[in-house]
Formats: sequence, structure tokens, C-alpha cells
Amino acid sequence: MTYSIIGAGIGGLSTALAFESAGIDYQLFERAPVLKKVGAGIWLAPNALQVLQDVQSEGNAINRISLCQADLTPISDNFQDSILKRFGYSTVAIHRAKLQQLLYDKIPDEKKFLGKSFESFGLHSDGKIDIHFTDNTMHQTDYLIGADGIHSNVRKQLFPNSQLRYSGQTCWRGVANIKLQQEFQLRGMELWGNQIRFGLSKLSDNAVYWFAVALDNANQNDQSDVKEKLLNMFESFHPLVNQLISATHKDEILRNDILDLMPMNKWYDNAICLIGDAAHATTPNMGQGGAQAIEDAFYLCKCIQQHPDKNAFELFQQKRKSKVNTIVKQSWNTGKMAHWKHGQSFRNLLIKSIPKRLLEKKMMEMYRIDADF
Ligand SMILES: Cc1cc2nc3c(=O)[nH]c(=O)nc-3n(C[C@H](O)[C@H](O)[C@H](O)COP(=O)(O)OP(=O)(O)OC[C@H]3O[C@@H](n4cnc5c(N)ncnc54)[C@H](O)[C@@H]3O)c2cc1C
Repeated sequence: MTYSIIGAGIGGLSTALAFESAGIDYQLFERAPVLKKVGAGIWLAPNALQVLQDVQSEGNAINRISLCQADLTPISDNFQDSILKRFGYSTVAIHRAKLQQLLYDKIPDEKKFLGKSFESFGLHSDGKIDIHFTDNTMHQTDYLIGADGIHSNVRKQLFPNSQLRYSGQTCWRGVANIKLQQEFQLRGMELWGNQIRFGLSKLSDNAVYWFAVALDNANQNDQSDVKEKLLNMFESFHPLVNQLISATHKDEILRNDILDLMPMNKWYDNAICLIGDAAHATTPNMGQGGAQAIEDAFYLCKCIQQHPDKNAFELFQQKRKSKVNTIVKQSWNTGKMAHWKHGQSFRNLLIKSIPKRLLEKKMMEMYRIDADF
């Protein structure tokens, strides 16, 4: 039985690696003709790192995640010592391109195909699936895994009624080529101002990942004055913010409207299954979208490997859906709360008053991987 994976993003690559270790027959198809060197950073949470163990040493480990006011006055601090003790990992910040390359290099050449853009699938009466690519080639497979991201074409054909929702927020990301002062080097930080916010963390000695989020900028794709716009927007923040924006090349600032996918009843139909953002894209407010795609890879592989007599896709969905839906909902609500127009001081007090034990319990639940499943 052979599996064809569409999309060599975080989820597709992690699935290919899991299949490779488990001895499951697969091919991986990616539409990009070459792996892009561009991109910004990503925070990989301990649940992701328990699956992709050797990535940790390639990024910058963070032992404290701080939520602050615009001037860096703390609102809440989440120290990761107990997380590290329990799971062996704290959160790691890494450049996306580096992460992708690391995973890609571990997959044998004969199993990965670049420049293959999925167009449609066709079903045979004997259960086989034809995959049609935009270059007019075709590949036949037993199972199809759609790991082609939030705008998934596999999903559009399989579940044409699926719907993306715009959060009302837009995110800019960049990597500044400067050395971050010592006191911030092991921290992930998010600063909340008046309906705008800014996050940052060290990636490596001379590189700092940052992101900026604001309301109502949908579809404003003109990037010509992006730097001036951001510098003005964050003028009242701690000077570190504009220092980072200034130290980033204008052409390397990425812009995305923040969307998620309305939770779907089913992620699979017969021999076709969606994973990662294709199945359950979430807003980035909890830094969990990539981690959930990586968890999908882990559990999908386990379902196929350990339960060959059962419907692996149904088992996979049963195992994953509740956790994923909780994250999608919580992340959406966190994003809304971050941009409250009124009651910002009250909101900050409310966050401050959340008992540490409760926060820690929630983190433990989110980061837990069920290795014996
Ligand atoms: C602003 C922002 C910040 C984020 N920060 C974080 C973070 O800090 N931590 C975290 O865990 N997550 C974060 N995320 C979420 C994370 O990026 C996604 O959840 C994750 O990339 C999903 O992985 P995926 O493999 O499902 O999709 P993707 O990584 O999007 O990969 C999809 C792949 O499919 C390919 N593809 C698409 N269409 C086709 C086709 N027709 N044929 C063949 N190939 C195709 C694409 O080229 C791509 O390589 C963030 C997201 C955003 C928008």
C-alpha cells in the first residue's frame, strides 16, 4: 500500500519522516520548484519537539515566555522550567527555512518530488486514486494525504463547503540582523499596546525574529512603504521594537492576513485524509499551528502502523479532533482579546490574576504527547 503526500511544508515533511522511520511506503509532492530560503522565525513548542527531537539543538531554546505592556512592563511570565523537567524540552525559536531544510534533507531523494503542483484527484472503482498535477502528469496511489496548507486544493475538492474565516488581523514578520541584549536572549516576548502587538525572540547570535499584528489591514498588499508604516505604528512602544524593524530589510518583511478554518466535521473521506492547516488551520496566537501539524504526523503514522486492521483515518481523527478544536477556539479568542478597544487595563489585571498552577496545568495538557497510543 502506498501513500502520496501533497505538500512539503511542516506537516507533510513531518509525515514523510514518520513514514520513513516506520517503513511505510510513501512519496512526497511539493509544488515549489526549489525550497525557499526566505521566511521568518517560528516558535516550536515542546509537543512538536517531542516528535522532531533533534531540531532542538538547531534553534534557540527559550525558558521564559513573557506577556508585557508596550513599554515592557510585565503582565505575565510563563517560566518553562517545569515544562522542561517534565518533557525534556522548552520552546525553541528557529528560522522556518532552516527547519524545513533540516527535515527535507532527511528524506531520500527518490521519495521527494519538487515542482509537482496538485491539481485534482480521480477515484477508480477498485479504490485506487489518480493524482493529476498541473504539469499534466499523473501518479496513481492507494492513499492520498493532503498536507497542502490553509488554502489546500485537496480540501477544496474533497470538502468544497469548507470555509476560511478572517480574524480582522494582519501580521508582519521579519528577521532583524542584530544582537539581542543578554537579558532577552532566552525569552519569547509579546508586547500588547493599544490594539496592536509585537513579539520577538532571538534566533541565533545575530538574528532576532519579530512579528507585528494590527487590525483592519486586509488585502492591503502594497508593501512599498511597509517599514515606515510599521515604524510609525510602533513609535510609542519600547525603543527595542523600532530598533528591530529598522534592522530588517524592507523586501524581507512578510505580510499575512490572519485566517483560520471553520472547524470541519470530517478530515477524511475513504482513502483521502487531510492533515495540518489543510484540516484545521488555526490563528497563530498560541504558536501551535505548526506543532499541531507535527502532532498529526506522529499520530497518523501510529494509527496506520499500530492498527492495520482498523480504519486508520477515522482513528486518527478521533484521536486528534478534540485537542485541535480546543486550540483553534482558544487561539481565536486570545487574538480577539489582544486587540480589545476598551478595558485594556482590566484585561491585563485579569491575565495577571490567573493562578500560575492553572496556567501550568493547561500547558502540560497542550504539550503532552501520548507516546503509547
Ligand atoms: C503569521 C504566522 C505565524 C505563525 N507562527 C507559528 C509559530 O510560531 N509556531 C507554530 O507552531 N505555528 C505557527 N504558525 C502556523 C504554522 O505556520 C502552520 O500551522 C504550519 O505551517 C502548517 O503546516 P502545514 O504543513 O499544514 O502547511 P504549510 O506549512 O503551509 O505547508 C503547505 C505546503 O504545501 C505546499 N502546497 C500548497 N499547495 C500545493 C499544491 N497544490 N500542490 C503541491 N504542494 C502544495 C506549499 O507550497 C507548502 O510547502 C504561524 C502562522 C502564521 C500565519
